[in-house]
Amino acid sequence: MREFGYHRAADVSGAVALLAADPDARFLGGGTNLVDLMKTGVERPARLVDVRDLPLDRIEPAGDGGLRIGATVTNSELAAHPEVRRRYPALAQAVLAGASGQLRNMATVGGNLLQRTRCGYFTDASKPCNKRVPGSGCPAIEGVHHNHAVLGASAHCVAVHPSDMGVALAAFDAVVSYETADGPGALPLADFYLPVGDTPHRETALPPGALITGVTLPPAPVAARSRYRKVRERASYAFAIGSVAAALDVADGVVREVRLAFGAVASRPWRARAAERALTGAPADADAFAAAADAELSAARPLPDNAYKVTLMRNLTVAVLTELAEEAAR
Ligand SMILES: Cc1cc2nc3c(=O)[nH]c(=O)nc-3n(C[C@H](O)[C@H](O)[C@H](O)COP(=O)(O)OP(=O)(O)OC[C@H]3O[C@@H](n4cnc5c(N)ncnc54)[C@H](O)[C@@H]3O)c2cc1C
Ligand code: SF4
Repeated sequence: MREFGYHRAADVSGAVALLAADPDARFLGGGTNLVDLMKTGVERPARLVDVRDLPLDRIEPAGDGGLRIGATVTNSELAAHPEVRRRYPALAQAVLAGASGQLRNMATVGGNLLQRTRCGYFTDASKPCNKRVPGSGCPAIEGVHHNHAVLGASAHCVAVHPSDMGVALAAFDAVVSYETADGPGALPLADFYLPVGDTPHRETALPPGALITGVTLPPAPVAARSRYRKVRERASYAFAIGSVAAALDVADGVVREVRLAFGAVASRPWRARAAERALTGAPADADAFAAAADAELSAARPLPDNAYKVTLMRNLTVAVLTELAEEAAR
């Protein structure tokens, strides 16, 4: 492990200035991903700027009826917050479906969004990997890829984003705010993660050295009836092989509004807009749910060992939407 410096930042401008002055520095949230990668030599920062003392640890009403979640709010605090549980239940469920109690007590919202892929070639510094070493190749395409992407991948990288939280945030149109030495900025989650293309090492649209300061959830009455369902290879303490965040508003048996996002199928949380379009105004029944899932998944390009994900995501979507529709009919 490379020797590194450690600095505990006291204010946002100081934290941002430290990163601007040293391109080899990294922000440290809970450290549950970054420190693991440092131990294996995948990440080799010269300095860590700890952000946990920054005043970014609140969950507050946003001016327009939404919620603003500070970047250093822990996963446990987020999942337990009464307004999150009442107004965006799928978000609380997604967070609770991730990692373990101990990890959630440490992990932060900013760090969760920026956690790296669990692709085994990426996390093994002795292997080629376009994401870690641009131009070195993607051994996953011919190798182990049973939990890799079926949507939005490229010939340069087929890794999936591992966040559960991000899937619910995508369904609810979250906006990520950040601070740089040049001032503040904001990115809708839909634009936050970059398409893979031939630059899988460039993962987000954040400017270099940007500090994530928070995430804003716009008001979304539909989110009050929402659910997150995750499928994994073990019952707990495992990343998703497929997940769905869904919210549904039904009137007289017809879908008035629907939100759908998929996890563990792409390099980013995948907002299923084709499915949403297909379902809006359609009957709230299993046939329409399946047709909507098919509309989204027709773009899937599976590899030999992950084609199961297409069927999995179809069935998961139908199951979750059916539960929400039954709940609405009660
Ligand atoms: C065994 C295990 C199982 C797990 N299972 C799951 C799971 O099922 N689902 C899931 O979603 N996650 C899972 N996780 C991942 C865990 O949720 C992430 O490690 C965690 O959310 C990262 O948050 P952190 O604050 O610890 O980030 P860190 O490790 O501190 O940082 C991660 C990255 O974010 C950057 N960063 C941190 N904060 C900021 C900021 N404010 N602004 C800019 N950059 C920042 C860091 O520089 C680093 O690049 C698991 C982790 C482990 C170890
Ligand atoms: S899928 Fe992406 S992360 Fe995995 S080996 Fe290929 S380039 Fe690297």
